[in-house]
Amino acid sequence: MGDARTLLDRSTHGHGSNLKRLIIEIMIKSDRQSRIARRTGLSSASVSTAVQELSANGVVETDKGGDSSGKSRSGKVRLRELRGVAIGVDLGFNHVSVVARPVTSSFDQVIQRRETPGMNRGLRLLLPDVLNLIQDAVEETGQKMADVVATGLAVPRMVEPRTGMFTTPVLAPWRAEDRPIQELSAALGVPVAMDNDANLGALTEQTYGSDEAVEHVAYVKASTGVGVGIMIGSTLLRGQRGMAGELGHLTIEPDGDVCLCGGRGCLDTIVGAESLVAKAKQAQRGSSREAPSTLGALVHSAQAGDAVCGRILSDAGRTLGFALAQLCNLINPRHIIIGGELAEAEHLVLDTCRQELRRYALAGTVHQDGDFKLRTSALSPFAEAQGALILGLQSRSSK
Ligand SMILES: [Zn+2]
Repeated sequence: MGDARTLLDRSTHGHGSNLKRLIIEIMIKSDRQSRIARRTGLSSASVSTAVQELSANGVVETDKGGDSSGKSRSGKVRLRELRGVAIGVDLGFNHVSVVARPVTSSFDQVIQRRETPGMNRGLRLLLPDVLNLIQDAVEETGQKMADVVATGLAVPRMVEPRTGMFTTPVLAPWRAEDRPIQELSAALGVPVAMDNDANLGALTEQTYGSDEAVEHVAYVKASTGVGVGIMIGSTLLRGQRGMAGELGHLTIEPDGDVCLCGGRGCLDTIVGAESLVAKAKQAQRGSSREAPSTLGALVHSAQAGDAVCGRILSDAGRTLGFALAQLCNLINPRHIIIGGELAEAEHLVLDTCRQELRRYALAGTVHQDGDFKLRTSALSPFAEAQGALILGLQSRSSK
């Protein structure tokens, strides 16, 4: 059996770099040649030539397509037997999620691990647990840690596109001196790439979330805070300093509460987990019932019919819809996908969110006939970790 590390360590120059890029794209997703061309930005002719060469060398094979020739480009190109595992890690405030997948398997065959708590423990205490989760997931794939070929990391913080490090100032519980990339990379022996969790959710949803090609995708990560990842074509909109899509710090109430960022009346102060839980506590003061202490518990109570929790979530959907209406008018996405803990409330949040989108966005941006869709992520709660896995593989193109 071939070895993915050796294959990717080969020539990264000229023609070799095209072959490498193609192999990586197939590791991310087995696909038809036309779609691989679209995803990589390579010409159809370049993809066709590279596929022929890789087929002749026994690296890839093409499924029989829909026509009788059996050589159709409509068949999916897939890797033949190859040893190698890709890893995605998502470090949240209250959770750690890890996904591991053999590079020849499809995304829905990924091994998933999730544990609490998360970064609220601090990186030093958390790292050994993260490495244990990775080892456990890799072993379940039937491969070894030495077979890990790429690793990506999702964090709920802004990341500088030019350096791949945190954008300063770094908000708690992260500290500017935290070096998650270096520490993970040293422990695993492979380069690690890092990006914002909402960005990586958007990358996942565009790559795996739909059978059709969707150019404009906004992924909303709504948990402790709200962040948006925006894909325009095959590019993540990161902004000059990685601060694009910080919807959680959009001012909704100019005279509202002061936010962690120093602003006032930010969306996070209204629909962030802490704020929603505080609202439930406030409403249930004096009651013998125990108020939920986490967003997950609040969602659970609402789904069980609790009127207070249900109202808090439908109001949150309304405020989120108002904020997303501004986003629709700015970037006109075709799909908006809600992920994070708030997404687990499904229609309790989506119904009012949709109403407010119709009320405040330009009608043409949210019209169903224009193919607009608002939905929750089917890949939740692992969408961010899956995106980290994709990022890890993509970053091998240049390493
Ligand atoms: Zn803020």
